Amino acid sequence: MIRLFTAATVLLLSFFTIADAADAPPEIRPVKISDNFYVFYGGGGLGGNVGMSIGEDGILLVDAMRDVTAPALFEEIRKVSDKPIKYVINTHSDADHSGGNAFFADKGALIIAQLNARYSPAQSDLKVSDAFSLIFNGQTVHGAHVTAHSYDDLIIYFSGNNIVFTGDTFTNTAPSYSFSDGAQGQYAAIDAALGFADDETAIVPGHGFIDDNAGLQSYRARCAEWIARIAALKEEGKTPAEMVEDETLLAIKRAFITRPRDSELAQSYIQRPITRVLTSELVSTVPLSSEALDAITGLYAFEDGSVAEIRQDGEKIFMVKSGDYMIELLAQSETFFKIRVFIDADIRFERNDAGAIAGFTLSDTGETTRARKLPDGA
Ligand SMILES: [Zn+2]
Repeated sequence: MIRLFTAATVLLLSFFTIADAADAPPEIRPVKISDNFYVFYGGGGLGGNVGMSIGEDGILLVDAMRDVTAPALFEEIRKVSDKPIKYVINTHSDADHSGGNAFFADKGALIIAQLNARYSPAQSDLKVSDAFSLIFNGQTVHGAHVTAHSYDDLIIYFSGNNIVFTGDTFTNTAPSYSFSDGAQGQYAAIDAALGFADDETAIVPGHGFIDDNAGLQSYRARCAEWIARIAALKEEGKTPAEMVEDETLLAIKRAFITRPRDSELAQSYIQRPITRVLTSELVSTVPLSSEALDAITGLYAFEDGSVAEIRQDGEKIFMVKSGDYMIELLAQSETFFKIRVFIDADIRFERNDAGAIAGFTLSDTGETTRARKLPDGA
């Protein structure tokens, strides 16, 4: 189970790394927005883009790149300012954005992340839930929680500099790689970013290049075309491997990429985003009674002794493990669930002789792991 999910997580996280691997040598590129604000471009496996507010309060960063690249990022920061680094706000918990958290925490920074980041390996100090604002360097920094690329996405807006950070809910170098909440989540993320923006706003994607309102509007339109085309191909019975060859879909993919680089046009760059739509937006579920939901929620112990919790959150059902992962279960029946985004994994609950849920078997690409349900209140 752990091995399987770790492998799957690495697959998701390495999406941009693989695509960038042909661009050598990778280097962090600073972009001066103003005397008091910089963006550092990542890419090339270094990690996502980073924002930096500098002023009388010190330095606040948006994201921290990877653990191995944080020292190089720190060097770039120090070329601009020697002020103390007070805060890092994560756009989400993926390692290419949060891997450097520990490095900057060590330098005295307080790490701010969305609450669901507790179910990830990312280190953080202060958790925020839905929306927040704080005053730093004389401007209001707004954060809005959305569920689009991950379950702990934050859209971050600096009112004084008029700059928005979208994390990986938006990129202009690849097709949409969102959908932890389906198309609805993707659009909600775009709307949250557009809600902060006017015609003058700089919009910084998690990967790719600084864009604007019009670029994000266009991305929204591409997302709708992308999902509609994949849905139509699915309807025709096409497999993901066949979808990759579809000329209409390829044209939509090319329109996503407003600053093309050869590596990003590679065939391999398209199948995973397609799969993400298929395994998120286009999975049907059956409604569960509250009795059926109550029966499966609770704590479960795996054979290795680790414990996961299955719980309801609104209409959704999640399996969460502190410091590790958060996955969404999609009901196919009262006891059989697919897992959003993880196409080859499913969970089947088992009952004991008395008819109560006794545990589940998780199957992932043919390998299985069992967990037993712990008594309520354990
Ligand atoms: Zn990323």
